[in-house]
Amino acid sequence: MDLLKTLVEKGLRRELPTREEALAVLATSDDELLDVVAAAGKVRRQWFGRRVKLNYLVNLKSGLCPEDCSYCSQRLGSTAEILKYTWLKPDEASKAAAAGVAGGAKRVCLVASGRGPTDRDVERVSGTIKAIKEQNEGVEVCACLGLLSDGQAERLRAAGADAYNHNLNTSEGTYGDITTTHTYADRVDTVNRAHAAGLSACSGLIAGMGESDEDLVDVVFSLRALDPDSVPVNFLIPFEGTPLAKEWNLTPQRCLRILAMTRFVCPDVEVRLAGGREVHLRTMQPLALHLVNSIFLGDYLTSEGQEGKADLDMIADAGFEVEGAGTTTLPEHRSGAACAPCGGADGGEGAGACAGAVPTARADVAPADAVRTDLVAVRRRGAGTDIAPNA
Ligand code: SF4
Repeated sequence: MDLLKTLVEKGLRRELPTREEALAVLATSDDELLDVVAAAGKVRRQWFGRRVKLNYLVNLKSGLCPEDCSYCSQRLGSTAEILKYTWLKPDEASKAAAAGVAGGAKRVCLVASGRGPTDRDVERVSGTIKAIKEQNEGVEVCACLGLLSDGQAERLRAAGADAYNHNLNTSEGTYGDITTTHTYADRVDTVNRAHAAGLSACSGLIAGMGESDEDLVDVVFSLRALDPDSVPVNFLIPFEGTPLAKEWNLTPQRCLRILAMTRFVCPDVEVRLAGGREVHLRTMQPLALHLVNSIFLGDYLTSEGQEGKADLDMIADAGFEVEGAGTTTLPEHRSGAACAPCGGADGGEGAGACAGAVPTARADVAPADAVRTDLVAVRRRGAGTDIAPNA
């Protein structure tokens, strides 16, 4: 297909595709899907070989958020029966982080619910970062605490944070449909603050909220313009008790097309397969490794992922390798930045994340009544519990 040949050539040159080319990837048929994966896989291998970076989420503070992000189980008014707890102590967070590192994670992502941190919260998280760095040599730490105000990014950087995550989540045009308590511009501002402070910026999206192909292309092009080092791609986990509980809009094939489009638009960036991969890709997860170069290990913020060992087995069986601590994630031309990437969330529950939605009829979208609540397991182990974490 000429389209794929063009996209591979552009990806190898780090050249931005046109919007029409990105839209055409999303419009490919199931018969063309393996060709799309193979083409985007060439771009992935050019910049990241067969390496898979593992990241580990630690939910420092869970639930009880005053913001109203529709996709989030921790939102204002959510009746999802998730774990709710206030700030973990530094040693509790460090213990959770150590489990992820022992499982193969190179990066720990410290996430807290809420609009954004107070200065006291930043001080508290700074202590946690120091504890984790002291007890886990060489680990990268990403903070994900919501909207940042003056000086906070600099203080986190000084405390040893390598990266900061704040997702755009959806297109600017639909943002207000998903969240009313903060704006798309607020989110862009925080990503820029992280950049300016010398933190590696991590910013991604959530697919499956009813958005159109145009919305997906909009948000991925906006992300490219922001130039983050990593782009987590979440697939909505439609939690019972949230406004998007009935939005079961994704098929494995659609997820793969979205990941391929993201890879073509952001060829040399750490594209991370984030929340919702088990729920929506299911047995097709290994194919996604040809598109992304990073995943979360184990559980998400408020939902459970597959067992950490299953993640490692999947990577090995698919012919990929876990990226070691001594390897630089990003290609040389990008790694002059502060460090490598960071990630963000559970499809729909990352701190400070939010998104918008415009329903659209599509042939490759699962029927609206294909509700699969059996696939969503609320997290009951790890941080905030007495039960050993999944890593
Ligand atoms: S995404 Fe973050 S800011 Fe939005 S409701 Fe959830 S925890 Fe709160």
